Amino acid sequence: MLRVSILDGYVDEPTCLGVPPYISPYPRYIAGAVWDFDAHATVSYVTIDQIRNDRSWLDTLSKSDMLVVIAGMSVPGRYLSGFPVSPYELVSLLSNLSQPVKLLCGPAARYGFGMSGGKSVKETGVVEDVFDLIVNGDGEIVVAELLKNNLKKETIDPSLCRSDPYAIKDFAVKGAAVVQQHPFFPEYLITEIETYRGCPRSIVGGCSFCSEPSKGLPSFRTIYDICAEVAALYKTGVHHMRIGNQPCIFSYMSKGAGELEFPQPNPKALEQLFQGIRFAAPNLKTLHIDNANPGVIARFPDECRRIAKSIVKYHTAGDVAALGVESVDPVVIKKNNLKASAEEVLDAVKLLNEVGSTRGTNGLPELLPGLNFVFGLDGETKNTFTLDYEFLKKIYDDGLLLRRINLRQVIPIPGTKMFEIGEKNVKKHKSEFQHFKRKVRETIERPMLQRLVPQGTLLTNVCTEVYEGKLTFARQLGSYPLLVGIPGVFPLRIFYDVKVVEYGYRSVTAVPYPLNLNTASRETLEAIPGVGKKRAVRILAKRPFHTKEELVRALDDPKIAQNIGEYVELE
Ligand code: SF4
Repeated sequence: MLRVSILDGYVDEPTCLGVPPYISPYPRYIAGAVWDFDAHATVSYVTIDQIRNDRSWLDTLSKSDMLVVIAGMSVPGRYLSGFPVSPYELVSLLSNLSQPVKLLCGPAARYGFGMSGGKSVKETGVVEDVFDLIVNGDGEIVVAELLKNNLKKETIDPSLCRSDPYAIKDFAVKGAAVVQQHPFFPEYLITEIETYRGCPRSIVGGCSFCSEPSKGLPSFRTIYDICAEVAALYKTGVHHMRIGNQPCIFSYMSKGAGELEFPQPNPKALEQLFQGIRFAAPNLKTLHIDNANPGVIARFPDECRRIAKSIVKYHTAGDVAALGVESVDPVVIKKNNLKASAEEVLDAVKLLNEVGSTRGTNGLPELLPGLNFVFGLDGETKNTFTLDYEFLKKIYDDGLLLRRINLRQVIPIPGTKMFEIGEKNVKKHKSEFQHFKRKVRETIERPMLQRLVPQGTLLTNVCTEVYEGKLTFARQLGSYPLLVGIPGVFPLRIFYDVKVVEYGYRSVTAVPYPLNLNTASRETLEAIPGVGKKRAVRILAKRPFHTKEELVRALDDPKIAQNIGEYVELE
């Protein structure tokens, strides 16, 4: 019997995320290609974190006929529940596996291993001896070809790509079942869904730092095919999905794509797509989106308003349209062929606020913009930081809402214009970047969080993920979830409702709601507004409490006792 192993070393690309709690389409399509070839094949899926925790997984890999490794970070990210594999880790783990034919797929095989923001990629030469094929084409197509050719690796062209989106139609459906092997399945796993690939702006060369134009002109999957995949995933037991694998969701099925830099958005197609997804998966707990091009939203406000309304109609709250701003400095925009001016980004932010700022059922606004900035680009000067700061300040002063501001340093990817420029500006402006980041955190991000989720806001279904000392970090599932620190040690992988009590620069502190005053730890009690160290000790000494009156008597200040009542539960 054919045995295939898939090792997910995680991917993070401009248009695709596959770091837990996300699973990208790569392993699903590859599993689908195997099961399309042989419905009885054994496909074992394992994540790099499972191997880090338990080396006996290597035994399973060693007994396979084929081992497919998926890896590559082509945009810098920060992760909580998993960290992408490094090339050195692959060398140390896989060098002794002799039986399987070994393939490296994903952005690492195409562009090299991104290590962190501001640093050049590590070339695949490091892992050359470990792999039989470094697949710089499409993994699922190369795997299908290799299987047809009895695993004769010498006969295979690793740069084989899908000819059109129909090539993955069956793989996407047949591979859905592999998600059941993910350690986060079913409650904590988000599946990233692809609607198309290739950026419309590739006809003008695309942005200087971006790898997406190398995928060619946009080629859209049909609504029918996307919904068939969604139905298969839903049937398998998936509760959380993000329609995130495309350069701009507002440009799906846009008119003139492939001929125009900014094709006209197609509100009817987006309405049908989201309606179809809801029909295929009616009780999804999370349905979010990801990237949007602010230049498209600003140029076509009527169409994009309709699209945003369709998204809000079918999605779940707390959704984020991540706008690639990169820089508002006109010199940087011009030199890097960026997609939108400061005025256009502002128009897009306003439109999304107009449609999406109503608070939803999970405690967060329905749909908000997130802004992505990239530093180290060509033409960057000290003035760039001033202009970017003034722009963010204006958004804040205008009373608008942003869900997040992402400040990153460029990874110069081979094949992009930025590769020629390299890390020059990153090195030159190292201290400006650090200073800028701190200033934005302190004077814009923190107050923006206070505006976004005022003290006492109830956030529902926050999932506990990791500890740091006596602080438990948790997040809702979805696009760019807000990081929540819960004082105290709580069991992991449990969903809590929490009330916001304090603010960090990029996170909030919150306590479970309703809080049981008679069992809560000292750390949790201290975090309730007005309690602090001394009163927490007094509460601990005098509990159990049965009524609010008992609590009022135990504390020195009835007002504080009243305030505590907003957070706790007493018989
Ligand atoms: S608009 Fe620019 S950043 Fe966005 S996908 Fe296209 S090339 Fe990449």
